[in-house]
Amino acid sequence: MKAEIIAVGTELLLGQIVNTNAQYLSRQLASMGIDVYYQTVVGDNLERLKEALRLSSSRADIILLSGGLGPTQDDLTKDALAAFLNRSLHIDRLAMDAIERFFHERGAVMTENNRRQALAIEGGTPLPNETGLAVGNAISQEGTHYIVLPGPPKELIPMFEQEAKPWLMQHVLTNELPIYSKMLKFAGIGESALDQQLEDLITAQTDPTIALYAKDGEVTVRISTKAASEAEAMDRLNEIEARIQARASEHMYANEDVPIEKVIVDMMADRGWTLSAAESCTGGLVAETVTSVPGSATMFLGGIICYTNQIKEKLVHIPHALLEGDDAPGAVSAEVAQALAEHVRLVTDSDFGLSVTGVAGPGYAERKPVGLVYIGLSERGKETEVHELNLQGNRETIRLRATKALLYRLWQ
Ligand code: ATP
Ligand code: MG
Repeated sequence: MKAEIIAVGTELLLGQIVNTNAQYLSRQLASMGIDVYYQTVVGDNLERLKEALRLSSSRADIILLSGGLGPTQDDLTKDALAAFLNRSLHIDRLAMDAIERFFHERGAVMTENNRRQALAIEGGTPLPNETGLAVGNAISQEGTHYIVLPGPPKELIPMFEQEAKPWLMQHVLTNELPIYSKMLKFAGIGESALDQQLEDLITAQTDPTIALYAKDGEVTVRISTKAASEAEAMDRLNEIEARIQARASEHMYANEDVPIEKVIVDMMADRGWTLSAAESCTGGLVAETVTSVPGSATMFLGGIICYTNQIKEKLVHIPHALLEGDDAPGAVSAEVAQALAEHVRLVTDSDFGLSVTGVAGPGYAERKPVGLVYIGLSERGKETEVHELNLQGNRETIRLRATKALLYRLWQ
């Protein structure tokens, strides 16, 4: 099954709104095992809309249209589709009743153009709108299936879930097997490095499929397969998971879609371990990331944000000679990372103390390059670990990746 999405609206072309409907619909179709080949954006123009339909219908089995179902003259989606399919439009009685009721209940006068929102295409299935007035439509012609959805996401999402998806399942996907997926989560490794480690697996693999994507400083590998039963799917998914794990076991921290901070919080809370952090370049992001997880109160004791050298000296008692002077290693150094981690662990009396100091950019600091970060991990009764990271990206990604790398070290 090949699908396409046509988002209608001049606002989209002008960049005034973001095409979140296409993102949502693509995700939904992917989760149903339907491949989306093209996304199109077209303005509120009858001829160009018909042209987009001509092109899409020559390539796709399923076409989802979003937007242009409102009452005004620039809402033309149903007119274009009806003209393209050579079918007439009629008023759907149920939709019209709902519109009349809407105005009646509010004591408002319905203008004539509101009738347009009740238009349905001859021979199609009207899709009721739970959260708005414009009725959607689903129709099949010459082996292509068309679904017309309203533009506002608060109308489109419920209509897709409650009406369009069941319609697709019933009319289009009757012989398709359901798709099952599993998410494998990795940290402490970049997307391209992981891709390289798994390259031959990925190229050789057609079922289950393996897809990599990076988000929020972590890498997710999604493995998916179509199967008649969940048990059959799980057999296949577990087998490929074991092969992936054999390649990159040291970086894989979960086989479900959870962020690393959740895994850390659950693990530490479980074992009764406590944590603290001293942060320079992340400015509190480590603490923020950990405390965003419910249940962190039992394991995260607190931290110190020591952004400037003065505060590193005053609050953390880092010797001036380490921070400044011709021979000083400087604030961005393994020595300072170690001292920060040890100090914060001692003053909070926690089992683990974390530290980060680095150059988040955009400019260099202490004549050190952007992306150079030292992370420290002090554990009660053990020697402190310090790691040097050379991170890529802008300020935001460097800070995020440093945070995730630190949590990943702690997980290890
Ligand atoms: P209305 O009855 O509100 O006019 P409509 O079905 O005619 O609905 P549009 O006029 O195309 O839809 O868009 C209405 C609003 O819906 C837009 O102003 C925008 O806020 C939102 N919207 C439309 N298309 C999209 C899209 N592709 N992604 C996200 N939001 C959208
Ligand atoms: Mg509109």
